[in-house]
Amino acid sequence: MLDDMLDHVQGLGDGPVWRPAPPAIRKGFSAPLPRAPQPLEEAHDEFRRTVLPYGVGNGHPRFFGWVHGGGNVVGMLAEMLAAGLNANLGGRDHMPVELERQVTRWMAELFAFPASASGLFVTGASTANLIAVLIARRQALGAGSRQAGVSGAGGRLRAYASRMTHGCLPKAMDIAGLGADALRLIAVDDQGRMDLDALAAALAEDRAAGLQPFLLVGTAGAVDTGAIDDLQSLARIAKAEALWLHVDGAFGALARLSPELAPLVDGIEQADSLAFDFHKWGQAPYDAGFVLVRDGQKHQAAFASTAAYLQREAQGLAAGAPWPCDFGPDLSRGFRALKVWLAFKTYGADAIGATILNTCRLGAYLAARVDAEPELERLAPAPLNIVCFRYRASGDQDALNNRIVVALQESGVAVPSTTKLDGRLAIRAAIVNHRTKARDIDLLVAEVLRLGRALSQGHAA
Ligand SMILES: *Cc1c(COP(=O)(O)O)cnc(C)c1O
Repeated sequence: MLDDMLDHVQGLGDGPVWRPAPPAIRKGFSAPLPRAPQPLEEAHDEFRRTVLPYGVGNGHPRFFGWVHGGGNVVGMLAEMLAAGLNANLGGRDHMPVELERQVTRWMAELFAFPASASGLFVTGASTANLIAVLIARRQALGAGSRQAGVSGAGGRLRAYASRMTHGCLPKAMDIAGLGADALRLIAVDDQGRMDLDALAAALAEDRAAGLQPFLLVGTAGAVDTGAIDDLQSLARIAKAEALWLHVDGAFGALARLSPELAPLVDGIEQADSLAFDFHKWGQAPYDAGFVLVRDGQKHQAAFASTAAYLQREAQGLAAGAPWPCDFGPDLSRGFRALKVWLAFKTYGADAIGATILNTCRLGAYLAARVDAEPELERLAPAPLNIVCFRYRASGDQDALNNRIVVALQESGVAVPSTTKLDGRLAIRAAIVNHRTKARDIDLLVAEVLRLGRALSQGHAA
C-alpha cells in the first residue's frame, strides 16, 4: 500500500487530472454489507481499480478548481503514524495534545498573537469560522446565553462581512441561531475589498434601528478572486465600535509564511480570532482547518462544560486541563496536528512560504497570459493566486464559457472551476498546488483558446 501510494504521488502529473467513474464501477458500490471476511489484498485491489483512479484530482499539477491543496508526502506518512497511534485528542494528559499545543504556539508566533492565545484543529475553515461566530456570540450575550439560548437579545445581533465573504459565514450565523440575514453583506471596491464607507453607514443605520452590531468579519483571500480586506482599517473600526474582529483567512492567512506576501495581510495580528486551513496553501492532506483565538479565556468560556465523566484531576491521565474539548464542539478528536507538525519540521516554514509565493507568481503569469490574448478577457484583479477570466464571443458568453470548463474537466487536461462575478460567468483558476509549473499554465491557456474557438464556431470539441 505504501509503495502504491508513493508511486501514485510520483506519477500525479502523468494521467488525466480527473475522469468520471464509469457506471459499472459506481454500481459495484451498491453491494450489500459484507458478512464474511475477504483477503486484504483483494479489497485493496478493488480500491486500486475502483477508487484510486477516480479521485478529485487535486494532487495533479493542472488541478485549478475551487481552492484545493495538493497534499504532501510527509502528511500522508503522518496520517499512518496518527492512525497507528490512534490517539483521542479530546483531552487528558498525553504528548499528542502537547504537540497540538505546540502548533498553536507556532501559529501564535506566526500571526503575532499573544502567548495567551488558544488554538484548535478542526475539519476546515467552515468549522473554524463557526467557532469564531459562537465565541463572539457568547461575548455579546454573556454567559447566561449558553443556558438560556439566544432568543430575545440574540434577535438584535448583527454581523458584517464583505459581499465576497464565503458561504460558510451566513451558514455559521444560521447554525448559531442568529439567522443568515443577521449577517450584513457590505459592498466592495474595485479591488474586491470591503467598502469602509458602506460599512460605517450600515453600522450607523443598524444602531439607529436599535440593533446590536457585535461581529466584524474581515476576509484575507476571498474565495472568488483572492481579494484581501484592509485589515488594519477593519481593526481600527472594530476597536472604535467594540466589535469582535474575526478574520476568515481560510487560504490567504498563510501568506504570512512568505516575507514577500506577508504585508498583504497586515492587520491580521490584531484580529480577535482567525480561521484558516492547512489543507489549502499549507499542502497538508485533508482535513486540517484551524482556529486561533487571541484570548484563550474567551475561547474556553464559549465551549467549556462540566460533566462527571470528564472530571479533571491534578495528576494522572485525567490531568492537563484545559483540554481541547473545552475549545470546540468535538469531544473525540483525531490527531490532525501531527501531519502539520511533521511537515513544518521536515520542509521548514520557509519552504512552505516559498511554495505559496510561487503559486502567486504563477497566478500573475496566468493573468499576464490572459491579458495578452485578444480572445480572452480578465474579469477581476488577481492579487494572489486566483485568476478569473473568460473567452470572448458573441452570443451567450456564460453558456459558452461553462461549456469550455466542462469540456476541459472531461478531457482530463486541466480542471478549472467557474464562478459568477457581477452576474457574469468566469472561468476561475486557483493555483494552490505546489506541483504546478508555468508549462501547466501554458497548457490551460492553449486549451481554453482551442475549445473557445471550436465551441463558439459550433464544432464539437
Ligand atoms: C475554503 C474556504 C472556506 C471554507 O473552508 P473549508 O476548509 O472548505 O471548510 C472559507 N472561507 C474561504 C475564504 C475559503 O477559501
